[in-house]
Amino acid sequence: MTNQTKQPCLRVIPLGGLHEIGKNTCVFEYGDDIMLVDAGLAFPSDGMHGVNVVMPDTSYLKENQKRIRGMIVTHGHEDHIGGIAHHLKNFNIPVIHGPRLALAMLTGKMEEAGVMDRTILQTVAPRDVVKVGQHFSVEFIRNTHSMADSFSLAITTPVGTVIFTGDFKFDHTPVDGETFDMARLAHYGEQGVLCLFSDSTNSEVPGFCPPERSVFPCLDRHISQAEGRVIITTFASSIHRVAMILELALKNGRKVGLLGRSMLNVIAKARELGYMRAPDDLFVPIKQIRDLPDRETLLLMTGSQGEPLAALSRISRGEHPQVQVKTTDTIIFSASPIPGNTISVVNTIDRLMMLGAKVVYGKGEGIHVSGHGFQEDQKLMLALTKPKYFVPVHGEHRMLVCHSKTAQSMGVPADNILIIDNGDVVELTADSIRKGDPVKAGIELLDASRNGIVDARVLKERQQLADDGVITMLAVISTDGVMAAPPRVNLRGVVTAADPRKLSLWAEREITWVLENRWQQLSRNSGGKAPDVDWMGVQREIEIGLQRRLRRELQVEPLIICLVQPAPGGTPAYKGRSDAEPDTRPAPRGGRGGGRDGGRDVQRGERPERVERSQQPRRELAAVGAAPAPAPAAAVASAPVATPARVEEPEISGRTRRRRSAAAS
Ligand SMILES: [Zn+2]
Ligand SMILES: [Zn+2]
Repeated sequence: MTNQTKQPCLRVIPLGGLHEIGKNTCVFEYGDDIMLVDAGLAFPSDGMHGVNVVMPDTSYLKENQKRIRGMIVTHGHEDHIGGIAHHLKNFNIPVIHGPRLALAMLTGKMEEAGVMDRTILQTVAPRDVVKVGQHFSVEFIRNTHSMADSFSLAITTPVGTVIFTGDFKFDHTPVDGETFDMARLAHYGEQGVLCLFSDSTNSEVPGFCPPERSVFPCLDRHISQAEGRVIITTFASSIHRVAMILELALKNGRKVGLLGRSMLNVIAKARELGYMRAPDDLFVPIKQIRDLPDRETLLLMTGSQGEPLAALSRISRGEHPQVQVKTTDTIIFSASPIPGNTISVVNTIDRLMMLGAKVVYGKGEGIHVSGHGFQEDQKLMLALTKPKYFVPVHGEHRMLVCHSKTAQSMGVPADNILIIDNGDVVELTADSIRKGDPVKAGIELLDASRNGIVDARVLKERQQLADDGVITMLAVISTDGVMAAPPRVNLRGVVTAADPRKLSLWAEREITWVLENRWQQLSRNSGGKAPDVDWMGVQREIEIGLQRRLRRELQVEPLIICLVQPAPGGTPAYKGRSDAEPDTRPAPRGGRGGGRDGGRDVQRGERPERVERSQQPRRELAAVGAAPAPAPAAAVASAPVATPARVEEPEISGRTRRRRSAAAS
């Protein structure tokens, strides 16, 4: 193995796009050069609360950013360019080469993110060859896809030429007349292709993918037969589809109103660059379109995936300010749901139907075709390029397996095919292919504001909040380690059979246990003064204890937030109700000073790091105003030993601290 790794080889490392559809990001590496091909995003799955964008983990690129020589973009779909603006904030990409339309769309995203000055954008034309670093030269081969201005790549390296198909299908009558440059593929096939990396999205579907044009007559039929308004939803980025819809509106004497930011943006860009031809007076602002007769109206909008904030979804919920569904409307879904979006799409369809509209959707209607080739397209790609080695990419695992079978049926030996996962390293030499040691790969989740990263801890807490609610607990503990008041427990979103008294009792027991068994470790007597107490540690211990008890007794796992209000030393102890009201269940721990149930100690090594609590239950703090008032923060910092009510303040939020200081002064 070591011998092989020392021999110079081409390393191809996908950081996203494998075993999934989305966030395609691929690293090509030779010697000291790194070249990126595409950097897309994916959308969150269920349970990723408040996450709206999923990015690949790019630690590998951050660590090696000095070696990044440039990036190649194949086409302008979100799953290929959606990550770039974000990445430019984190690592350097000196230059990005790509098609005009994709780079125009990327410019919008980069302006929004304020990263226009971080890289140079270079547009390419078909058959252009660009050099990236010392070792890569890339030819852009025009291909056909649902997006206009899309390319496959021939990447020439010191070990041979690799064909990277990008997203493709073979469409011999493309809407924009730009045909697949099959002659170039055949040229490379004749010269000898070392390895083919090919789009696997539809590897399970037999036959050839129908041409994009084939939806034209079906859409035409629905539009011409519609009695009232026509509402069509599709991906804004499906440039060819949108171009056909505009053509059909013109043909059927309907004016077009556009809804949804991406629809407006993409159409403006595509018209400006000449990828779409439509007269200006075809479009009518949405506010004025109400003045037109329904039979002369076509609304084109986002929402084909049931995205909750998209125009059509809001219309289906009756929440759109300008458009309400009429029973005479014909609503056409000219897109198929991406796996994962199916439920929200069918819910949207249901709501629209319940409002009385005629909804046209689904496979049988001929109103949608895929932008990705089927098995026969994939065979044609293999036949033209005649690769020595083959790596199926862009697809979920079963699709990759299916595509590898297709390649075998075309004569590629099974040993020459690799099925890889994100982070795997394909090492290629002129006469070998193997998997190297993987690099770090995974996902990075961004929240709605798009500048906050949702890490595993935050996600776990959000899941707890969503699934089991939250319990806040306020404990008053004196600096010499006695419980000075009954704990106050507050439940939000927690469903439990246990009554509040029982919960308070359990809270008391956990506090007592921590004071009896952990106080020694958590407080330090620094020479005569009041002891130094690790209040955060006390809080954490109580949280862990209550969490374990609730999991055991009630099978719920709410988020628990414990806040300790310190009281001065010498405050009389609150006796607790434990003795007066013994637990009916067998006590989970032994007698006084005995260990809690054994499992607790086992887990002590991995305490959850829930330290900062900016969301302090302020109302509760106010409510215990009756508890001994702590000294002002300033006094705590500088007060001499003599200060009578000296209290060690735990880390509490600035807001609370200010309130308390103000109250005390
Ligand atoms: Zn695409
Ligand atoms: Zn794609």
